[in-house]
Amino acid sequence: MAIKLLDPRVISQIAAGEVVERPASVVKELVENSLDAGSTQVSVEAAGSGLGLIRVTDNGSGIPDDEVELAFERHATSKIRELSDLDSISSLGFRGEALPSIAAVARVEVLTCAGGEMTGAFLKLEDGAVVERRRQGRAQGTTVTVRNLFRRVPARLKFLKSPATENGRIAEVVTQYALAFPEVRFTLSIDDRVLLRSPGSGRLLDTVVEVYGPEAAGKMLELSDKQGEWDGGNPVFSHIVVTGLVGAPTVSRTSRGSLSFFVNRRWVSSRLLGKAVEDAYRGLLMQGRYPLGVVNISIPSAEVDVNIHPTKREVRFRDERTVFGSVQGAVRRTLVSLTPVPRIEEPMAAFAPPPVTTVSWESLVEGSSRMPAHAPVAQPLQAPLVALPVLRVMGQLSGSYIVAEGADGLYLIDQHAAHERVLFERVMEQRSKNGVEMQGLLEPATLEVEPKQAEAMKGHIARLAGFGFDIEPFGERTYLVRAVPALLHKKDWVGAIREVLDSASGNNAAERLAMSIACHSAVRAGQSMSHDEMRELVRELERVGVPHTCPHGRPTMIHLSLAQLSRDFGRTG
Ligand code: ADP
Ligand code: MG
Repeated sequence: MAIKLLDPRVISQIAAGEVVERPASVVKELVENSLDAGSTQVSVEAAGSGLGLIRVTDNGSGIPDDEVELAFERHATSKIRELSDLDSISSLGFRGEALPSIAAVARVEVLTCAGGEMTGAFLKLEDGAVVERRRQGRAQGTTVTVRNLFRRVPARLKFLKSPATENGRIAEVVTQYALAFPEVRFTLSIDDRVLLRSPGSGRLLDTVVEVYGPEAAGKMLELSDKQGEWDGGNPVFSHIVVTGLVGAPTVSRTSRGSLSFFVNRRWVSSRLLGKAVEDAYRGLLMQGRYPLGVVNISIPSAEVDVNIHPTKREVRFRDERTVFGSVQGAVRRTLVSLTPVPRIEEPMAAFAPPPVTTVSWESLVEGSSRMPAHAPVAQPLQAPLVALPVLRVMGQLSGSYIVAEGADGLYLIDQHAAHERVLFERVMEQRSKNGVEMQGLLEPATLEVEPKQAEAMKGHIARLAGFGFDIEPFGERTYLVRAVPALLHKKDWVGAIREVLDSASGNNAAERLAMSIACHSAVRAGQSMSHDEMRELVRELERVGVPHTCPHGRPTMIHLSLAQLSRDFGRTG
């Protein structure tokens, strides 16, 4: 054959092969673009192994109307201008190749609206050329839809694996980015099945619960990063910061696939880093077992070259030994001290465990005035702290109970009782630090007490002040209320005061006041809660000293263990 210059279309298709190897590569590039655009929500849909459809929707910056076509030109990027910009790169993309590459091997539609623009732009491309362009409304953000991937590139199709494998790779990409960006809410659905929903709470552990399940999550250890110290003769380099979670040796896996590395938040594969972690586990894992973990390495951009391969999965470190040492050291220190994730089992440092009443709930609701004066009995300080396992919220039952999964079975949590416990501890802690949050009322309110309450009120006024009530006498039985505890703002604070006035005087008046405040500000039974609200409440409950009972002594949760379930279903014996 005579020598001829290739047709530009063929050049594009050949070049595309470097970036777009398989459906998961498309997902990776689109998700990276969404993250570079500062999105807080990224949703990924795929169908037919990703060959039929891939759609990534985000709420990021959007593409300005007059730049949409340009985004599909080869080497067009908004992320760098000069080669030297790579030394301080903070974006995931920079080569300006993804969109043109994808458009060269698929049918692509983009609908985008940049911040500040009135309407969005819709663009449709076939074989890399624009075939349709119009204005279309959209909230700020971008949706890229990719169809018929590789239909015109049969050679590519031949190299693809089974649908299960290709879907698995798509899920892997989204999962990894969800772990790298815990503050972003990811959703992944494949063939209309939702496979991952990351909470976007900003806490890595919350994402780990969704990805690896509550059992493994409960055994994760937080990487301790003590900078500037000397570690067995090697200085710990402070310009490299290693954070994340690694599994206790008891949650090892049979393959290397459950260890993720992110260098400046870029998901990388690196034998060096893998080796550093495995080294740290030496002597702790049996042969053929591999650790589980999420390791974030933050390092000055000039110390790492990200431009080695078009897919940017590989990086090269300027000083490999230092990186190796930092990662190995951080993991080793964590394993040696075996400190569990502090959020879960952290003792309540600021104040003694709160009192637990010995009276039954029934006797309280029947008539709080009959509550015995000695009722709240302070727990001894040295009482073992009852820590909760990590729980994954599954849903709400009857508008009143949170259904959650833990390592050992099912947990039913009474939302009101649990919230009461959390608020009670918060109120007591704030008071002990003289830091009660108050909320001034727009207009001072008058509060008239009954004759039989008048005496009690005098005794309580200073105490009420300690909890955030600003109350002053305004006549015989009338009081002027100028401020209330912030927790009770717009809630039944009158009820809380009356409850305190009606209860018999005696010891622990402060605790009883805190209980009333907690009870009157806690979420009610029958009040529907969003998934986020439930997760937040469970996380707060994990942190309190005595999570299993409400301040009145009622249980906050019922646990159905897996053993009990097997027994009840006749699976054992
Ligand atoms: P790169 O990411 O390397 O710059 P791409 O081809 O992936 O190259 O994207 C080209 C440009 O299109 C980006 O630089 C960015 O300005 C814009 N872009 C692509 N996707 C998005 C998105 N989801 N949100 C906002 N801008 C985007
Ligand atoms: Mg990109």
